Amino acid sequence: MPLEYFEQRERSLLGSRCEALYAAPEELPARGLTVNGLRCTPERFAELADFALEPSPFCAEGFVVRDPAFRPGRHPYHHAGVFYSQEPSASAPAALLEVRPGMRVLDLCAAPGGKSSQLAAALGGQGLLVSNEYDPGRAEALKSNLERMGAANAVVTNAAPAALAAALPGFFDRVLVDAPCSGEGMFRKEPQAMAQHGPALVRQCAALGAKILESAAALLAPGGLLVYSTCTFSPEEDEGQAGAFLAAHPDFELADCGVGFGSPGEENRCGGFSLDTAKVRRIWPCQGGEGHFMAKFRKKGESGGQARASKPPRCAKAPPEWAAFAQQYFPFLAGLPLLAAGELLLLPPAAGLPPLPKGVRVLRCGVALGRVQKGRFEPAHHLFTAFGARCENKEELLLADSRTAAWLRGEEIGAQTARPGWCCVLVDGFPLGAGKASGGRVKNHYPKALRNLG
Ligand code: SAM
Repeated sequence: MPLEYFEQRERSLLGSRCEALYAAPEELPARGLTVNGLRCTPERFAELADFALEPSPFCAEGFVVRDPAFRPGRHPYHHAGVFYSQEPSASAPAALLEVRPGMRVLDLCAAPGGKSSQLAAALGGQGLLVSNEYDPGRAEALKSNLERMGAANAVVTNAAPAALAAALPGFFDRVLVDAPCSGEGMFRKEPQAMAQHGPALVRQCAALGAKILESAAALLAPGGLLVYSTCTFSPEEDEGQAGAFLAAHPDFELADCGVGFGSPGEENRCGGFSLDTAKVRRIWPCQGGEGHFMAKFRKKGESGGQARASKPPRCAKAPPEWAAFAQQYFPFLAGLPLLAAGELLLLPPAAGLPPLPKGVRVLRCGVALGRVQKGRFEPAHHLFTAFGARCENKEELLLADSRTAAWLRGEEIGAQTARPGWCCVLVDGFPLGAGKASGGRVKNHYPKALRNLG
């Protein structure tokens, strides 16, 4: 039934174009990856990578990997947050937001974090990224992925969009809604998406998407941009959703996605709403991705600028153990205002965020630095993923060095460049995490859950 519904619908909407648009170029979907601009440029990455790459048509930082043997999650550059593995067309929506350093950006449906990673890179460490995920388990994965990517100015929240909208009305310059959808673009990659599919799911997702868009509209500042995306083809969730949003929100106008890839929207998918389909974008399977829909909206009016400045958070007193540790290993962090969450010390984003109500659970605010235990400062993994390249003591590994694979398996390695004490272990200059050197060896502090085992 599910496939029958989908096929009949698409055949009737597309007519003779159906076969060609759904003809994917390969048996297996290609893997995509997006280079983390916080680590290096796409050009540098292409020089360093030890596997075959092709540039992706969908974003400047994207590449396609066709080798079916490539296991992105085990690659040292994945561990070092140099790239994020995501389906090629999924990298397209984040770039449409035109994020610039210093902005306040919200990713409302963010887990597992591919698009948030791109947004963090576009901010270049300046301004604020709020990465929100509704599902508590997925929010933990989001936190871990943003930590791996070295994001220092992100706040990871676990909240219903409406709770965020009540807390932060008009706060953001940019909002991304990568909506929970019926996933028709996932049929090839995740066959279970097909089993759960049907007209009821499409209706349910369209209604949920509309509700999330309502909150997104409230969260955006005048003059700001909102991008809505799905990985599905259904009219109700795509052109119909965009048209209905504009009809209900006269304070928004449709902006041109302005990209060369993919195709314009389809007139017969607008559900009777008026929509300039030339301005929205679809990616069909025949165009090299599994499928995506994107629409971009501008909230009318002028940005409030400084008038929206938020109060800095209440600072925690820096314990002397942190002060001494920072002075020795990360002197540029010494003296910066800190936050405390229980015993955990954090370095909050300088851009600040107003106090949040109980309904908005904050999983991470800025960078987890570590905690004082038994009179000593025990650094957190995040400190090294965010700032490890600037650590005063380093163990420098190369991709081809057998010590790199050993390190990722959780083993102790021989020290060649690190002096005794805490050090950052890096591969080709990209931080993997903390080690502790003594007696010519580096003790492994790479978190067990992240290791390459088996
Ligand atoms: N943007 C993500 C990325 O690039 O990695 C993918 C997001 S996925 C398409 C949609 C997300 O919306 C899922 O993580 C899902 O848990 C979340 N979601 C589910 N129900 C939701 C709700 N009621 N409100 C907001 N988000 C919801």
